[in-house]
Amino acid sequence: MLGLMQEWPLLCHKIVDHAGIQHPNREIVSRSVEGPIVRTSYAEVRKRALRVAQRLERDGFGLGDRIATLAWNTARHIEAWYGIMGIGAIYHTLNPRLFPEQIAWIMNHAEDKALFVDLTFVPLVEKIAASLPSLKKVIVLTDAAHMPATTLPNAVAYEDWLAEADGDFAWRSFDENTAAGMCYTSGTTGEPKGVLYSHRSNVLHAMIACMPDAMGISSRDVILPVVPMFHANAWGLGQSAPMIGAKLVMPGGRMDGASIYELLDTEKVTFTAAVPTVWLMLLQHLEETGKKLPHLKKVVIGGSACPRAMTKKFQEDYDVQVCHAWGMTEMSPLGTLGTIKPEYTELRGEERLTIQEKQGHPPFGVEMKVTDDENREHPWDGKTFGRLKVRGPAVARAYYGGAGQEQFDEEGWFDTGDVAHIDANGYMQITDRAKDVIKSGGEWISTIDLENLAVGHPDVAEAAVIGVKHSKWGERPLLVVVRKPGREPGRSDILGFMQGKVAKWWMPDDVAFVQEIPHTATGKVQKTTLRDQFRDYRLP
Ligand code: ADP
Repeated sequence: MLGLMQEWPLLCHKIVDHAGIQHPNREIVSRSVEGPIVRTSYAEVRKRALRVAQRLERDGFGLGDRIATLAWNTARHIEAWYGIMGIGAIYHTLNPRLFPEQIAWIMNHAEDKALFVDLTFVPLVEKIAASLPSLKKVIVLTDAAHMPATTLPNAVAYEDWLAEADGDFAWRSFDENTAAGMCYTSGTTGEPKGVLYSHRSNVLHAMIACMPDAMGISSRDVILPVVPMFHANAWGLGQSAPMIGAKLVMPGGRMDGASIYELLDTEKVTFTAAVPTVWLMLLQHLEETGKKLPHLKKVVIGGSACPRAMTKKFQEDYDVQVCHAWGMTEMSPLGTLGTIKPEYTELRGEERLTIQEKQGHPPFGVEMKVTDDENREHPWDGKTFGRLKVRGPAVARAYYGGAGQEQFDEEGWFDTGDVAHIDANGYMQITDRAKDVIKSGGEWISTIDLENLAVGHPDVAEAAVIGVKHSKWGERPLLVVVRKPGREPGRSDILGFMQGKVAKWWMPDDVAFVQEIPHTATGKVQKTTLRDQFRDYRLP
């Protein structure tokens, strides 16, 4: 027997409708690409998104078309997202930090038909335009006054283009499983792979993200997504913030410490999220200027492991609660969040930090297990690590075009490629990417544990651990360190600091000091490049 409840398909444009109707005057503040801070509201964004939808249809775009965006976090980018989704087309966020050839490869793989692009990236698109046969239209996210002279065929200024639509338009309706968005993983191994979100998965993910033990956000929050919309959907904030009617503060293209601090302060931001490298810059700025964070309550840190020292600094020096989070593009992206369960509320000081160093526990909607290579499940004992597998309504079941099929099994589990353990209270801790793990004498050494420890040294700015060939043990860990400006710690200072805090046989065999550690387009340490750099390194 079927239930007798209404059918109300979970469609993304219902989110912007709700925001525009229930929270019409709530602000969206953006640092515009042209320079000034600009203010709009959910009511206004909803109206303009309807005009985007109407205008796209008039240009001949519709159901199933991939429409790319190459843009910073701004209100215009949000309008474009909802306008695209509202006609059943698919927003495809592109990461501008990739090489131009990679962007062209991804756009051709997705067969993007139109592109919304920020002024910043017009020269980049000009370089690759000739190799994009499916691209019919380029909409530059600016007004006529700022429109550059461009060699791009069919390029228009967004505001001119939008002015031709009056917004008298009804969202199109379709099945909730219709594709809504697309994002490619950065392809650190092999070609990039496309993840194709549906309206249903986006809406469910946004609801899940808001829950108190997930991001725990409400209409009373002021949210600054520093994490870009092109990095796994700004971790869902472009959908969960309007869903609950929270004020949004969009940082545009400036993510340095001073610029982020300015927005946190002037807009009285209460909640923010980004990768550790961004917070490194902010903390440095605060240290240099002696400024404080009186409004900020919570910061979500993920994308790569949040070092214990960073959590400690935010919480103890600035009274800002840190929530460590783990996720993947393939998971929309939230997987686990490090909010404190009742079992751990009594813990204080270092014991509490030990729990917060873990990547956290999954909200409703994410199932998770850790297995050995033969798919036998490991106990939840907080130490036996293996392959981390997940499933849920906002987890990919395949990649676009069918790549990487070996990562999905018949029971619906997706092999994340991460190595982790889970404790008795359901907290997961990542020890490595499967491809980065160090195998020494047949046993695994966690590079993340060693990196976390090394950045706890007061003179270390950044640290990465890689395996280097060793005649007896196969591989041994090498610690690569960037020193803090003006500090000169030596090998023995750092190894001495780590001594006794990890198993003896995990201790790095050597420390190499470098000016800079290479990063991927999403801010992770690029271990492949680092391994190449130290391929012939001779350990002492
Ligand atoms: P990309 O590979 O394109 O950068 P993702 O952002 O989807 O794309 O990367 C997901 C991966 O990032 C995860 O599989 C994991 O290895 C790593 N990761 C994400 N969050 C964390 C975290 N809190 N701690 C450690 N690793 C993390």
